[in-house]
Amino acid sequence: MSGAGPESLIFEKSLPGHRGADFPAAGVAPTACGDRAAALGVPADDVALLLPGVALREEPPRLPEVAELQVVRHYTRLSQLNYSVDTGFYPLGSCTMKYNPKLHDEMAALPGFAALHPYQAEDEVQGLLCLLYELEQALVEITGLKRASLQPAAGAHGELAGILMIKAYHRDHGGAGRDTVIVPDSAHGTNLASAAMAGYRVIEIPSSTRGLIDLAALRAGLSERTAALMLTNPNTLGLFEEDILEISSLAHEAGALCYYDGANLNAVMGKARPGDMGMDVVHLNLHKTFSTPHGGGGPGAGPVVAGAKLEPYLPVPLVRRSEPDGTFGFDYDRPLSIGRVKGFYGNVGVMVRAFAYILRMGSDGLTRAGEDAVLNANYLRVRLRDWYDVPYDGPCMHEFVMSAAKQARQGCTARDIAKRLLDFGIHPPTVYFPLIVSEALMVEPTETEDILSLDRFVEVMEQIDREICSDPETVRQAPHTTPVRRPDETQAARHPVLRWSPQP
Ligand SMILES: *Cc1c(COP(=O)(O)O)cnc(C)c1O
Repeated sequence: MSGAGPESLIFEKSLPGHRGADFPAAGVAPTACGDRAAALGVPADDVALLLPGVALREEPPRLPEVAELQVVRHYTRLSQLNYSVDTGFYPLGSCTMKYNPKLHDEMAALPGFAALHPYQAEDEVQGLLCLLYELEQALVEITGLKRASLQPAAGAHGELAGILMIKAYHRDHGGAGRDTVIVPDSAHGTNLASAAMAGYRVIEIPSSTRGLIDLAALRAGLSERTAALMLTNPNTLGLFEEDILEISSLAHEAGALCYYDGANLNAVMGKARPGDMGMDVVHLNLHKTFSTPHGGGGPGAGPVVAGAKLEPYLPVPLVRRSEPDGTFGFDYDRPLSIGRVKGFYGNVGVMVRAFAYILRMGSDGLTRAGEDAVLNANYLRVRLRDWYDVPYDGPCMHEFVMSAAKQARQGCTARDIAKRLLDFGIHPPTVYFPLIVSEALMVEPTETEDILSLDRFVEVMEQIDREICSDPETVRQAPHTTPVRRPDETQAARHPVLRWSPQP
């Protein structure tokens, strides 16, 4: 990014007459002696015979006129404007922007996976079906639940599938009047949205002073109208819910089911299982915890894993293994299923990457990854808390939340600090989330960073804090080195310009 001068920002490269491809002129007759260019030539007189008039353009298409070298430079330059975990530290809390080994991409690109067609007969895709089956087994083992559907295309999609399963369960068990989902105020925004999309009323319960679910508030919120409690553990403050068993018991006693947002499973993987915490259904983000690169809008996968009560409601089809011959196939014969939630079987390439990751790590490796994620987050928390407030301080899991409230009083907000980090080639943490921390900076270093990059982040954060005292204007005006300074984020989100069109 830092190398991008104004020259490289010129997007329109077209110049009349510049060409990246050559076609032989029409009307050149093929020659007998094998002149290839001429042999490919279109006989001028025959064009009208070969193509019907409606298919003929009256004017040439308005395409950019650029030579091959300019095209290569254009796209290579654009790819370099993009910040990525392959170019630098990316501590974006709740997003798990860890390094994803390239081997997993190579596995997904193997022709035996990548060149399959979704309409191929089951007996031609036994290898892939076996992989999907074994991936399901692995996710069931990791979560301590019963069965999984790999279909949902994202975390939020898995949430919606899980909540619809809960709804179907209550409908069949005399709970049709249950119209409410309880969500802690530290929840990820998608939780409330998924519950509302499934037609539920959402009740938010406040966190305790320690940043955990407040048992008294939970008791007060639960009633015969509660369909589910939706929680994230560790929660978005990076704290493990110590009372999780009591929490799930209270929900079950009230006749509600427990939904576990397992988008970021790093911290507990191999150590604790949602199924053992009393959870009825979980979604996982394969594109966060299980090594699919993400952040560019997809594709992802948000498998939904269910315990005994909800397993019959999983989306169809599931992958079945027939005994005794051990062949694999799709099982549609599941009368209580909520139905399909995705075309074909979801984003299979993501599943191949996740399977490669799980095999390569093994159960010891997954546990170690979780331990390192927690160690790295705690290292940063302890080193940074002398400069930035950590409101819910104490051992954290894979992430923690700082507050820039003190710096804001000195005139530089969390947003300014985030922008200033860009000048040092560091992706900012998540800012202003969770909402219960003012001027929040949510840091998730992930297990793949070494101590050198953690130390550098600490040094840069210290330097920014010093600048806020000595030279606040530099921080308020940041970033200074990026190709785009401070875009209008609302406009960019509401009216994104995603395709090129010719200038009038
Ligand atoms: C990322 C995330 C989600 C949503 O996942 P998407 O794949 O972006 O839909 C849900 N919950 C938590 C806690 C997350 O971090």
